[in-house]
Amino acid sequence: MLNCVVIGAGIAGLSSGIALHKAGHRPIIYEAHGAPSDGIGGFLTVAVNGFDALETLGLKGPARHLGFSTPLMSMYLGSNGRHLADFDYGGSLPDGTTARTMTRSELYAMLRDEAGQRGIGIVYDKRLTAVEESHDAVTAVFHDGTTARGDLVVGADGLNSRVRTLIDPTSPPPRNIPLLNTCGIVPAGALPPGLMDVETGRMKMVFGKRCFYCYMQDPDGSTWWFANPLEHSSEDPATLDPGARKAWLTKLVAGDRTVMADIVTATEDIIRPYTTSDFPSIPRWQRGRLVVVGDAAHAASPSSGQGASMAIEDAVTLGRSLQGLEPDSIPEALARYENERRTRAESVVEWGRRNAAPKIRGQFKRIFADLVLPVVFRGIARKSEDNFDWVYRHHIEWDAANSGVS
Ligand SMILES: Cc1cc2nc3c(=O)[nH]c(=O)nc-3n(C[C@H](O)[C@H](O)[C@H](O)COP(=O)(O)OP(=O)(O)OC[C@H]3O[C@@H](n4cnc5c(N)ncnc54)[C@H](O)[C@@H]3O)c2cc1C
Repeated sequence: MLNCVVIGAGIAGLSSGIALHKAGHRPIIYEAHGAPSDGIGGFLTVAVNGFDALETLGLKGPARHLGFSTPLMSMYLGSNGRHLADFDYGGSLPDGTTARTMTRSELYAMLRDEAGQRGIGIVYDKRLTAVEESHDAVTAVFHDGTTARGDLVVGADGLNSRVRTLIDPTSPPPRNIPLLNTCGIVPAGALPPGLMDVETGRMKMVFGKRCFYCYMQDPDGSTWWFANPLEHSSEDPATLDPGARKAWLTKLVAGDRTVMADIVTATEDIIRPYTTSDFPSIPRWQRGRLVVVGDAAHAASPSSGQGASMAIEDAVTLGRSLQGLEPDSIPEALARYENERRTRAESVVEWGRRNAAPKIRGQFKRIFADLVLPVVFRGIARKSEDNFDWVYRHHIEWDAANSGVS
């Protein structure tokens, strides 16, 4: 049994803890924040490949109760309301499970509670600063001077991972994507009856005149939305107070032939806009007894809709690679994990980058884009099933030597 020091209690860290426990090891998770992150963040979607990975961890059941089913998306032009294309969000698993949109907080809480039930410890207020490596162990050093010794350290410490730079100090920083992200949820009953122009569970994605955005309706009647304004479309939206933030965003969507302006106006709490980043590739995911998972290894743009799903896939592959191992074999097992995950993860990052590209267009390119996008989307929609199977139909066989597309 290996003693595993997991750094970071986010989606990747909690999933890794659960996967390592399933593999017969003893993980303890160390989190920089002083308290659990319940209630923090906006929402995300777990795609069917994420559910497939959750099933391996015995968590598909609880995850199916989170959020609501969002199997479909439709693309529109905001300038004239023109419908561009329909896609499905990966179809469904054999038991009917589809992609689900949920708050990051509820996914986090489910994983944290499941980790607790399996006896996995989470220690808060432990920010990793350094590691000390010897031939038979690795010791994590935290900001308060305390340490944790183990057979390996799993860096699930997100986009600005410390573990990543400890593995390789030359590792490049995240790549900026010139889009802002913001979102909100409008409770049931806050919008006028009959206003919504999209059915329950379908994501309406709009290339607006001044901003890309998406809205959808939960069966409970609440309306969920996100928006990706261009970073340079305002002075500094992140510093605006909540009232000014709402006025700024309403102005960006007001000229479109959609109901987004009403939705934004009805939103009480609009998340402070934050910049987006991704990682094209980092030189190393592992060295000796150190390894990274989730955003620490391969952050994808939110436009991929794969951040959480890929983090869970990593966790399953890592757990499987370390199953039944003796400490001496750790470096080889971590290299095997990297080998199995790298190509897929980097392909998803590039796919997310391409998905974000049509959203990044200046005002002067808008009219041109309005002409080109319908043609582009007709082509993509025709080929979508073949195109996206490699993303969504990924299955990791826990007992097999290699994972692959089933
Ligand atoms: C509070 C929070 C809210 C989020 N909200 C959204 C959202 O609304 N929508 C969305 O799409 N994505 C959101 N994300 C990001 C999303 O969860 C991730 O992109 C994805 O799930 C992959 O998760 P991850 O575990 O790799 O990284 P993260 O979710 O970023 O988790 C990394 C964890 O490591 C901890 N950590 C970082 N450095 C150290 C250190 N040195 N020592 C110890 N611990 C450390 C962090 O505090 C964090 O808990 C959020 C992330 C966080 C942390």
